[in-house]
Amino acid sequence: MQFLHQAPIGLVQTEMGGDIRMINPMAITLLMPLAPGGNLLNMLDVLEPEAPGLRERAAADTLPGETVCEALRIVLDASPATAVRILGISLVKLDRETLMFTITDATFAEQQEQNRLDLRLRDIARTDALTAIPNRTVVQERIARAIEAGAQTGGGEEAALAVIFINSDRFNQFNVSLGHAVGDALLQRMAERLVRFAHAAPAVPAAHAGTAARAAELLVARLGGDEFAVLVEHCGSVDRISAIAQQLLDVLDAPYRMAGGPVHLSASLGIAFATPAGGDADSVLQDASIAMRFAKQAGGARFSVFEPAMKEKVARRSAIESDLRRALQENELFVVYQPIVRMDDGVCAGMEALVRWKHPVRGIVPPIEFIDIAEETGLIGALGSFVLRSACAQSVAWKRQLGARAPRHMSVNVSRVQLTDPALAAQVIEILSDTGIAAGDLQLEVTESFAAQDQEITQRLHELHALGIRLALDDFGTGYSSLACLHQLPVHVVKIDRSFVSQVDSSSHHRVLIEATILVARSLGMGTVAEGIETEEQASELARLQCDKGQGYLFARPMPAAQATEWLLARVQQADNHAEAITA
Ligand code: C2E
Ligand code: MG
Ligand code: MG
Repeated sequence: MQFLHQAPIGLVQTEMGGDIRMINPMAITLLMPLAPGGNLLNMLDVLEPEAPGLRERAAADTLPGETVCEALRIVLDASPATAVRILGISLVKLDRETLMFTITDATFAEQQEQNRLDLRLRDIARTDALTAIPNRTVVQERIARAIEAGAQTGGGEEAALAVIFINSDRFNQFNVSLGHAVGDALLQRMAERLVRFAHAAPAVPAAHAGTAARAAELLVARLGGDEFAVLVEHCGSVDRISAIAQQLLDVLDAPYRMAGGPVHLSASLGIAFATPAGGDADSVLQDASIAMRFAKQAGGARFSVFEPAMKEKVARRSAIESDLRRALQENELFVVYQPIVRMDDGVCAGMEALVRWKHPVRGIVPPIEFIDIAEETGLIGALGSFVLRSACAQSVAWKRQLGARAPRHMSVNVSRVQLTDPALAAQVIEILSDTGIAAGDLQLEVTESFAAQDQEITQRLHELHALGIRLALDDFGTGYSSLACLHQLPVHVVKIDRSFVSQVDSSSHHRVLIEATILVARSLGMGTVAEGIETEEQASELARLQCDKGQGYLFARPMPAAQATEWLLARVQQADNHAEAITA
């Protein structure tokens, strides 16, 4: 009996009709709000409004010991002053004459469950599903809080939060070539590295001489795609954040060991500070991403710190970008041709196709101003195939017009991004067949700085090589591939960069390098072309060094198709006159 009195749940025994025989204090407390006028005589009467039909169920022909009703949930209307209370009631038929009610206060348990659910939902909304680290929302909140705190304390170095925006340099390329599953795994590994780095709490250099270096508080989050952010607390100085950014670069630079072999994926970082002057959280993030773009444009695998002038440059680039989209549709792009001549007899052995843009306002825009934008924006595919198609068609037209005296090879530049496209070979095949150019008459130029760098690109070069197309290594001498690696690349021609050629007659150092290049290329069965020959002195020096061919303003500038045709015809005429003079 004592037990009944102190039980933490309400217990009520009634007759079959609901008249109460025994009720403990807890039950009285819990049921009181249901008993109008404090009238607690018949349980079934009390519960009638909340659980209509309970009387019938209790009276039904059920066996003793059977549960009539389990966990009946009754929400007690909260008055404005009191919170909602929830009762859980169950009813068991003890024997033929007795009903037993148990009443619990489910408010607390339900609330806890609700809180758990809320927390889980909040976690889901704040956690990146792929990497299980905080997401953009958390970053935005954290930056907004820092801005607010800065506004309250008047800003200052110690108050500032530094935002490091991270974008991997060639993720899309791997994602496409290795498949999305590998791409996802790569992103997870990146997140792991960042989190491990943050846990190791890198030391921030001291803010002032005399104060000690201390561990930084870092938050790592995924913003989306291959973009991550690292937030560094109390790190208002450029020197201090730069030290951390450099460590991050090193951490991300190590190759990832994946099932298919090691993957090298460097990253570009942009840094901005969350200060009251820097605008809201979104604009701080945007500044950091602009700084990241600059790091990327400078070649990647580096960081840069946001400066306001970057914004204008970005605006100019985006103006060019939208203009370029239009240019492709409105036929504002055209191709010019520059002769490549044989050094020994001056015969035009080939032409290099170079793209130009006739901008309605800016005039002729050189490729250096838009090729990399086209690469970044995915327009390079359309641009590249336009140039290739025009050049191949022009080559065929010259063959038709000039026969054996047409320039043998048509040389076309392909960019790094084009070479990462697995569809490149198929696209080239299509253009070969559409235009009717022979594969052996087409030469594709790839810049030396990336030709040797990347397995995927080397594979693409082999595919093109297998089509019977000639390959030329452009700008040789400016990149990383040394003469010793030359034999590993499936190229037919080495084009010696203008920066060497321009000094061939003035610097013995450059002359020796050119000579070595020519000798090695020849020993590998490759031809050589000197780029950017501007003077007779350079030309005769290169001829003496037995360079096969030359290209440069000395011979001819790049010319629109019609003008190039005239140039070729004049050449043919000249040669005929020359031959006539000899035979006469
Ligand atoms: P590149 O392939 O090395 O082309 C040679 C560049 O040197 C051309 O500049 C040409 O006009 C210039 N040049 C030729 N002879 C001389 C000379 O004697 N002196 C001087 N100072 N320059 C000379 P351009 O046409 O401005 O092209 C620059 C670069 O843009 C090209 O370098 C190539 O990498 C890229 N490019 C041009 N057209 C295309 C294209 O259709 N597709 C792609 N992906 N890249 C292109
Ligand atoms: Mg070229
Ligand atoms: Mg070049």
